[in-house]
Amino acid sequence: MPAKIIDGKKVAEKFLNEVNKKIKESKEKPGLAIVLAGNNPASEIYVNFKEKKAKEVGLYFERYNLEENVSQNELLKLIDNLNQSRKIHGMIVQLPLPKHIDEKLVVDAILPHKDADGFTPVNLGNLVNDDNRLVPATARACLELIKSTGEKIEGKNTVVVGRSTIVGKPVALLLLQENATVTICHSKTKNLAEFTKNADILVVAVGKPKLIKKDMVKKGAIVIDVGINKTPSGIIGDVDFENVKEVAGYITPVPGGVGPMTIAMLLDNTLNAMEMGRGFLR
Ligand code: NAP
Repeated sequence: MPAKIIDGKKVAEKFLNEVNKKIKESKEKPGLAIVLAGNNPASEIYVNFKEKKAKEVGLYFERYNLEENVSQNELLKLIDNLNQSRKIHGMIVQLPLPKHIDEKLVVDAILPHKDADGFTPVNLGNLVNDDNRLVPATARACLELIKSTGEKIEGKNTVVVGRSTIVGKPVALLLLQENATVTICHSKTKNLAEFTKNADILVVAVGKPKLIKKDMVKKGAIVIDVGINKTPSGIIGDVDFENVKEVAGYITPVPGGVGPMTIAMLLDNTLNAMEMGRGFLR
């Protein structure tokens, strides 16, 4: 029997309705700022989506489009202003930044309680410590999509392919919190298929089109495809969807899987940021 398709848009809609409800009930209007530096076309598309959804759910929203040649100091000054703004509770600096800018330095400049992406060292450290107030949105998206299947996570063999700080590692930590047995694979892993074939839950975050083939997937597995790859035939994931769906139990499509869910998690993070910021001087 072919896999059940995990509809990321549908699951995201449920979360967005929840965010909308919380905003309506909130005394203070939560505010999100997005900073986009340079002319990366993919980044512009992502930011447009985030802006559209942020406005739809009723967040106060500010967007800053900076030139490709913006100086690091100008960018840091803007972040400092947003750190101090009383209207802004969460901010996102869209990555990648232009090459002359030190991304780590810029991310570190965001106050942890305004870090809607959950990328600052404090929030990543909190996650290691099982404190999930501001977790990287794509990692949260993966976990919620797995949970949406209703299948048990505890005790399951889980393989995460990819070990980036913003996706692979945080996904692995979230699954560990759920008491899964977690293996992380990466570009130096030998015999990748030997690991993926044993996975009851497989999360793939690599950025290589159709890396995961049908014969690398266990029958009935939950397969979460984070990859976004631009090809002449359109956007595709890291999983050979058409063939893998013949063996998997559940699978996310690309587009329409992790992407929409990531945006929902980002907006939810903004509410968490507002909550986390209470008690801090802004
Ligand atoms: P990244 O920082 O480039 O990390 C890629 C990871 O894949 C690295 O850990 C790398 O290993 C590993 N890798 C590379 N080739 C491999 C191979 N042949 N076998 C096994 N592992 C391999 O990428 P990322 O930021 O995590 O993003 C991954 C993908 O997800 C990209 O396509 C990105 O566009 C997409 N993405 C989607 C969303 C969304 O909202 N849907 C959000 C974020 C990212 P090493 O560490 O050894 O180099």
